[in-house]
Amino acid sequence: MTKFVFVTGGVSSSLGKGLTASSLGRLLKSRGLKVTMCKLDPYLNVDPGTMNPGEHGEVYVTDDGGETDLDLGHYERFIDESLTRTSNTTTGSVYSNVIAKERRGDYLGKTVQVIPHITDEIKERIRRVGAMGADVVIVEIGGTVGDIEIVPFIESIRQYRRDAGRGNVCYVHLTLVPYLAPSGEQKTKPTQHSVTELRSRGIQPDVIVCRSDQPISDGLKRKISLLCDVPIQAVVSAVDEASIYDIPTTLHREGLDTIVCQTLGIDLDEHPIDLAPWNAVVHRVHNTTKTLRIGVVGKYVTMPDAYLSVAESIRHAGFAVGATTKIEWLEAERVPTEIDSDRLRQLDGIIVPGGFGERGIEGMIAAARIAREQQIPYLGICLGMQIMVVEFARHRLGLSDAHSTEFSLATTAPVIALMAEQMDVTDLGGTMRLGACPAMLDEGSIVAGLYGTTVVSERHRHRYEFNARYRAQFEAAGMRCSGTSPDGRLVEFVELPEHPYFVGTQAHPEFKSRPDRPHPLFLGLVSAAATRAEGREPHIIDPTSVDAAT
Ligand code: GLN
Repeated sequence: MTKFVFVTGGVSSSLGKGLTASSLGRLLKSRGLKVTMCKLDPYLNVDPGTMNPGEHGEVYVTDDGGETDLDLGHYERFIDESLTRTSNTTTGSVYSNVIAKERRGDYLGKTVQVIPHITDEIKERIRRVGAMGADVVIVEIGGTVGDIEIVPFIESIRQYRRDAGRGNVCYVHLTLVPYLAPSGEQKTKPTQHSVTELRSRGIQPDVIVCRSDQPISDGLKRKISLLCDVPIQAVVSAVDEASIYDIPTTLHREGLDTIVCQTLGIDLDEHPIDLAPWNAVVHRVHNTTKTLRIGVVGKYVTMPDAYLSVAESIRHAGFAVGATTKIEWLEAERVPTEIDSDRLRQLDGIIVPGGFGERGIEGMIAAARIAREQQIPYLGICLGMQIMVVEFARHRLGLSDAHSTEFSLATTAPVIALMAEQMDVTDLGGTMRLGACPAMLDEGSIVAGLYGTTVVSERHRHRYEFNARYRAQFEAAGMRCSGTSPDGRLVEFVELPEHPYFVGTQAHPEFKSRPDRPHPLFLGLVSAAATRAEGREPHIIDPTSVDAAT
């Protein structure tokens, strides 16, 4: 029988609901349970694919090409299971389905209403995730109780307890317990109000997780227990942590997984916890011996959530080489005109991540040039690979006008172009290449050495490609196209063998890095950065000496 945990949030947004849900997922998985997760988002976009990453954070891409909320990235990193587009439902997708059904006449002349039609559709989405064979499904509800848009979701999860059976559902509510400096006290009133709001919608939480900057005292827990009508063991203190990877351990110490299992009738003796593998990760996080400075040159650097998976991937690779990685966010538009390029030269490694649109492109090209010429380790991700190709064409192939046709249709050297343009067809409407695609790597290349195999699969999200017409010219000048699609037509990886680390991929490797299994390409970058930081002569890293798992 599949069990369901619904995680709601109150008082304020950005309390870390996704991380709390993910940490619970990790704890339940550490008890030998099969866990999966999903997110219900109350906004009207059908999916986050069209949302500005500068406002909403990154778009997380699943293997099946779903463009999903960034919380799915936390889920995958914590529970280490590959999710699908089914794991992200938005109000927009629910309504568009219901309206499509209405147009088809599926409702047989009925008046179509929020209850039951919208709520049934939401419950159907949850059921679909439940049917995928997990012991426990953790469902995070985006937004905050009290929001207008959240009401149909709260109503659906209320009904779900009746549908799934009382013992199969657990409601976890996350709130904020603020500390008021003038009175020197932590306050429970916002928690009480938020629980009252939830109750007014028919849900009595089973567990209350209290976010705070200082631990909640037993006295305060008793008060919350009394006023919100939950057992004292079900009041969980979740203090701010130095690293997000500390959260599972803290929540376990506070008894979160125990109370959730008890609520769901999961026998704790049958499912003892084994936190040893996770503790090994945490140990590495806190026992680093060096600090590396990795620059990320992008368009949305004032909103680091826009590059959340890239940042986490850098950290994972750092843990593996015993380094704390300090990420320096560089605004592409200001490179190198305003930011002294000396700042780039002082970095141990540089990443140009994915992106769309022209803003900042010349700054990214300048950064790639500095990395190439100054022997600074560089990883180009999707747009970042296209940038290194344009830079190489302009400054090594002498194609001074080289560009991607995304930014210049008039260029005489379209080294990056839509597939359609490369094949001289007139329909220029490029469709996005989305989701997992296989690639074949060249035997003996840097990337094949790092992956430890020549057949890989990575997730994609882009329209433009390396223009195969220029391949021979690039290779003659020393840029190796080290991986292609299985039919050999699309260039997926490029590298400069004569550089400490100058590697680009058309894919998004950041979606597959895990805290205990750093992604090989990030490990390659961070290892080369560590070499540079040690002040040794830059040398070509020996891929076989890097201990990476794919
Ligand atoms: N804008 C580029 C393209 O569409 C790169 C996209 C990306 O970096 N995800 O091909």
